[in-house]
Amino acid sequence: MATTSCDVAIVGAGLGGCFLALLLGRRGQNVVVIEQGPSVPSAGADFLKPPGLRVLARHGLADLVGRHGLRRDLIRYYHDGDPIQDCRFPDGGFLIRPYRELVELIYTSCAMEGVEFWFDASIADIAVVERQVEELTLSDGRRLRAGVVIGADGTKSAVRQALGIEQRTMPYERLLMRVATVPLSASVAQLNRLYFSSEGWLTYLYPLNRDQARVFVGLPPEDDKEIFQDGIPALLDELKKFVTESSDAFNALQPATWQRIKVSAMRVDAYHQGNAALLGSAAFACHPMTGMGMSYTLHDAEILADVICAAGDDRDLLDRLLSARYEPRREVHRQLIDYGDALAASFRNRTAYLAAFRPELHVHGVTAAPEPMPALQPT
Ligand SMILES: Cc1cc2nc3c(=O)[nH]c(=O)nc-3n(C[C@H](O)[C@H](O)[C@H](O)COP(=O)(O)OP(=O)(O)OC[C@H]3O[C@@H](n4cnc5c(N)ncnc54)[C@H](O)[C@@H]3O)c2cc1C
Repeated sequence: MATTSCDVAIVGAGLGGCFLALLLGRRGQNVVVIEQGPSVPSAGADFLKPPGLRVLARHGLADLVGRHGLRRDLIRYYHDGDPIQDCRFPDGGFLIRPYRELVELIYTSCAMEGVEFWFDASIADIAVVERQVEELTLSDGRRLRAGVVIGADGTKSAVRQALGIEQRTMPYERLLMRVATVPLSASVAQLNRLYFSSEGWLTYLYPLNRDQARVFVGLPPEDDKEIFQDGIPALLDELKKFVTESSDAFNALQPATWQRIKVSAMRVDAYHQGNAALLGSAAFACHPMTGMGMSYTLHDAEILADVICAAGDDRDLLDRLLSARYEPRREVHRQLIDYGDALAASFRNRTAYLAAFRPELHVHGVTAAPEPMPALQPT
């Protein structure tokens, strides 16, 4: 079977992969995106915070993604039923938009830039020679050779494994998450409310659109079996103990289908090797309480696009630029992951949670140390 050549191969058509493909396509790069699924991913995050919105605005996409999304400018936090903290988002707030819709918008924009997508494409082999990815082979026999290879293929990244980059996954053992989509009620339409309890539960309710709401319930894993196997009344009894201003949503929880989500943090030892780099959930995962994974991933894609375009065909320069400009993102992500860990460890205790909570981080993200200016000429 014929071998295809391109400037950049991106594995994974999630937000990170699609956004990077768009930025590179706009700058004339020949890009192929390989996605194992039949389309862009169908489930994922709902909140795009101001740093991510600013990235999209820099690339003329703010109107496109904002047009049908919901804007919110406040999240109210409660502990054992009492309001303890308001987190305000000035200057336009943040966006609620289901992940699939957001990714699809970026994916549709890619078509105008000539980006090629290979769906239902599973990888059989990634040939790495002297720390460079030389060729990708798909299960159907197709081969792809690329100057640069990006692993935007999620937490179990095949690219990361082929490069031999170590990862450490740290599950949040004390919290199991359940999520359901339910009809919108008045209190949820009014305000995003996030409730914690000293017994280790949390509940987050927010609108998805004019008709639907999302409800996250986090609970100690040992409670999950009893609550979700023995029926909804047990769930409502628990929620009534600490969910004080959203009781109009309770009836909608009765017939809901509750999907189970395990949440983990993940850190990796390097973000690039030779002509390959990791992006998004292939590179890091933080606690969803931070609500920042997408924002950071969008900014990372911006940096990668600049580096790839600046390096051209020069692999040594690419390696040096990735070291100088992309690897420092690991430190910024480390701070975000540490922050998520601190929230997860403290939310049972009101005083400890308030001490750990950093509203500026929810609004602006971690402010990175200045990035060193890389040498643009080969040495
Ligand atoms: C419960 C939860 C809630 C979250 N909430 C928020 C939030 O509100 N706001 C926020 O900013 N962030 C949130 N995040 C984080 C956010 O989801 C991620 O930062 C973001 O989805 C990363 O995008 P991605 O493109 O790296 O990964 P993904 O969307 O996971 O995309 C990876 C893609 O790679 C494909 N793939 C995997 N393996 C292969 C392979 N071998 N070959 C080909 N394709 C492959 C997959 O099918 C998938 O399409 C949340 C995360 C979780 C777990």
